Amino acid sequence: MIEFTTTQRERLAELGADESIPTDTFSSESERNRVFQEKENEWVRINRDRIDTLLNERREPILLSTIRLMEDWLKQEEGYTQVATPSIITGDMLSRMNIGEDSDLSQQVFWLGRNKCLRPMLAPNLYIMMRELKRISGQPVKIFECGSCFRKESQGSQHLNEFTMLNMVELAATEDGRQAEVLEAYARSAMKILGIEKYELVREESVVYKETIDVIVDGLEVASGAYGPMYLDGRWGVFDVWVGIGFGLERLAAVRSGFKNIRRAGKSITYIDGSPLNI
Ligand code: ATP
Ligand code: MG
Repeated sequence: MIEFTTTQRERLAELGADESIPTDTFSSESERNRVFQEKENEWVRINRDRIDTLLNERREPILLSTIRLMEDWLKQEEGYTQVATPSIITGDMLSRMNIGEDSDLSQQVFWLGRNKCLRPMLAPNLYIMMRELKRISGQPVKIFECGSCFRKESQGSQHLNEFTMLNMVELAATEDGRQAEVLEAYARSAMKILGIEKYELVREESVVYKETIDVIVDGLEVASGAYGPMYLDGRWGVFDVWVGIGFGLERLAAVRSGFKNIRRAGKSITYIDGSPLNI
């Protein structure tokens, strides 16, 4: 039985041909290699055409157009203000999120020296930002940030060490008791804006938040929402009702383009807009 070699399969997967890789067996190695060569040429052409369209028409990869859709939606339709906070945070901020040395997430933190790290999430900065903006303005606050987060991951097809999170949060804007309803409405609007029709909203247990409401597409978590008042709030000086959702932008971009591996959608110097550069 002569089949494609592992290297041949990997090359076709890298080119995005996953779905169309023949499972046939071949009568000889030369027959197999001829079929592989044809497939490879076909998919190199497809990827070159994609890059051509990117450079001459679309001018931004799917990750960036997904981010832009979300940012425009929040600013223009939902009255949100975009903020930008540092990627480097302190270890004390992580402990305040209940990410102590014994938690799983703490094993994934990239430390910079003894008490600084690359943020694994946006929540610590946003807790402070929303609290201060509420104090200064005396009004309900609706803010979001979109930026890189960092986690040491075991490198599966759905985890990156550096990924882009968009975290939206509203403070003191919703009546107590209606948080889950508001959260779900935001999640549904986001999916609509992104053109994702098939998804589920699922309640999950969470170490940090106790319970989250997650958006799941075909078994993959693309976003996680939480709300307060909850047990962490007092540590951050927050006492109002809040509702927040963190969206994983590479996973959303991959879902929107049908990529099986989010590496194709992520920040990269080996891929551009889902196409490998070694073509
Ligand atoms: P998972 O259980 O899939 O590892 P999580 O529950 O740890 O995800 P959250 O902390 O809820 O992730 O982060 C919010 C969103 O960020 C997730 O729903 C996911 O879309 C995205 N995300 C989290 N970790 C990664 C990663 N390593 N690479 C890419 N996206 C990620
Ligand atoms: Mg989650």
